[in-house]
Amino acid sequence: MDILKERILKEASVINSGVLKLDSLLNHGVDPQLTMEMGKEFAAKFAGETITKVITVESSGIPVAFATALVLGVPLVFARRKKTLLGEPDAYCERVPSFTKGIVTDLIVSRHLISSEDSLLFIDDIIANGDAARGLIKIIEQSGATLKGIGIVLEKSFQAGGRTLRELGYRVETLVKIQSLDDNTITFAD
Ligand code: 5GP
Repeated sequence: MDILKERILKEASVINSGVLKLDSLLNHGVDPQLTMEMGKEFAAKFAGETITKVITVESSGIPVAFATALVLGVPLVFARRKKTLLGEPDAYCERVPSFTKGIVTDLIVSRHLISSEDSLLFIDDIIANGDAARGLIKIIEQSGATLKGIGIVLEKSFQAGGRTLRELGYRVETLVKIQSLDDNTITFAD
């Protein structure tokens, strides 16, 4: 997605060789028009699949997942991130490390929101090590729903998340791949 690459080059900053700051587009602010374009891209990529719901993780995945769900005409579910010591009997729950916050949180999805009848499309903002995605996949497995595919706006392909999920057999589609953030420079993979 060339327009997204241009915006990344203009608006992102390299924090270090592993982390990109992209607040204006993905992690703090939202460009509704560009976000709708992302949603259309994902909807087109997964047009051959029957999807009953889009699922994501709060908070940065929500805008693009919403856009995708709107184009596909299906509901959106987002996993809550909570730090909880209490069990949640009415929810599926998986503990995952947070890449940017350096803490562990619980991903929680109410049991009544997804079921074995669902064919899900998982949409998220960025993939690094893939911990959030693996946590959500475990929740989807617990629910008995089918995961039809994974759409990620930005894959840092020098980190293992995307590769690992593909090796596990999941269909992972990304809008932009970053090959390196070394020397304070954003290098795209294609
Ligand atoms: P993972 O679980 O794949 O290691 O990390 C995924 C989550 O961490 C993403 O949903 C994203 O919010 C956050 N994240 C990972 N890498 C980056 C990064 O380079 N920049 C920002 N802003 N967030 C990131």
